[in-house]
Amino acid sequence: MGYPHPTHPKEQAVLSKHFGDAGARTFDGWVKRGGYEGLKKALGMTREQVIEEVKASGLRGRGGAGFPTGMKWSFMPKDVVKPHYLVCNADESEPGTFKDREILRWTPHQLIEGCAVGAYAIGAERIYIYIRGEFTAEHKILVKAVEEAYQGGALGANVFGSGKRIDLVVHRGAGAYICGEETAMMNSIEGRRGNPRIKPPFPAVAGLWASPTTINNVETLSASSHIIREGAAWYKALCRGNPKSTGTKLFSVCGHVQRPGNYEVVMGTPMTDLVFDMCGGMRPGRTLKAVIPGGSSVPILTAKEIEGCLLDYEGVVEKGSMLGSGGMIVMDDSTDIVYQVMRLARFYAHESCAQCTQCREGTAWTTRILERILAGQGKKEDLNLLLDLADNMTGKTICVLSDSCAAPVVSAIKKFPEEFDAYISRARTSSLVTA
Ligand code: SF4
Repeated sequence: MGYPHPTHPKEQAVLSKHFGDAGARTFDGWVKRGGYEGLKKALGMTREQVIEEVKASGLRGRGGAGFPTGMKWSFMPKDVVKPHYLVCNADESEPGTFKDREILRWTPHQLIEGCAVGAYAIGAERIYIYIRGEFTAEHKILVKAVEEAYQGGALGANVFGSGKRIDLVVHRGAGAYICGEETAMMNSIEGRRGNPRIKPPFPAVAGLWASPTTINNVETLSASSHIIREGAAWYKALCRGNPKSTGTKLFSVCGHVQRPGNYEVVMGTPMTDLVFDMCGGMRPGRTLKAVIPGGSSVPILTAKEIEGCLLDYEGVVEKGSMLGSGGMIVMDDSTDIVYQVMRLARFYAHESCAQCTQCREGTAWTTRILERILAGQGKKEDLNLLLDLADNMTGKTICVLSDSCAAPVVSAIKKFPEEFDAYISRARTSSLVTA
């Protein structure tokens, strides 16, 4: 999807440089393209030097949270005798997000190399890649690449002759969105029901089998080997002036743009450049109405708000939303916002693990109210009820699935009140006529 692309700035590409190039999928092909040089270089450094290099690069978690990667690695205890684990989150289930799938599909060795760099840095001898159950083709590609990596010496008892042991297990999920949450993922790997755990303890203290564990996203780990190979200064220079958001980021753009797909841009690129130049803008005769910029779990931005919005962690927060996973859902003026947020709420209600009352009841109740409004039976009080429910669903649960349902609903009510009012006043008029 989206490759090769005439307006895609390939010269800036780091992670997507070999997307569309089937030759990059094999071990030999990856080595020919400079692959595994980052891992070899890392093995010649101390663990602390690798962590310091990643810290200095400014790399932040690309799965949604944006936490500094090097700092996360440094939290792993050094004096614990228990085994250490690295878990790679490849359970990409966020609506509108499909960038990690592209890394898995085209450059599985890019990910394996990044995982091995991460494992070495945190002192882990075992990596688990937790891959989304629905990624059938990507699972096959990854398993084959792991076999090749063992044969080529990039994994196993003596990685590239360094004397270091790094093993990698590919663990396939069964299709639950909540297993993308890091503690639910660990439960799932352990063979338990994929329910999020209460934190603390945090995974670096007690993660997989109560041992120190770091969980990183596919895109984050993939970037790490490039940072070691090219140096922190090179990566840090890939930004448009904001030193807190460095490097490149993959954005999955879907919805009403003319050229949906995955685009890799330097942090700080204006959102309008991505939507209107690279993606070709709206379909003919249509205008932009709104964008959900970070998967589906963040506040909606209006067309006005995306003007001047920079695609980095701080730039999107400044406009009242979040960068999240980098999945952008673009909606033109034909979109029924009430219907769209009902679809999102229904998704979260279906995916709730049901441990927390606020989430279990709140997501279902929110969906029912929105369905009622859409069915022409809404009441004026419903909007305050939805906002009150959202307040009870935010910041009060074990994980953020509940908040993720509330955020787009609240922003839709605040930014597009006329669309809710239209349904509700239509309902009032028809009940008066009936009476
Ligand atoms: Fe489960 Fe929802 Fe609670 Fe998360 S917020 S633990 S999904 S019930």
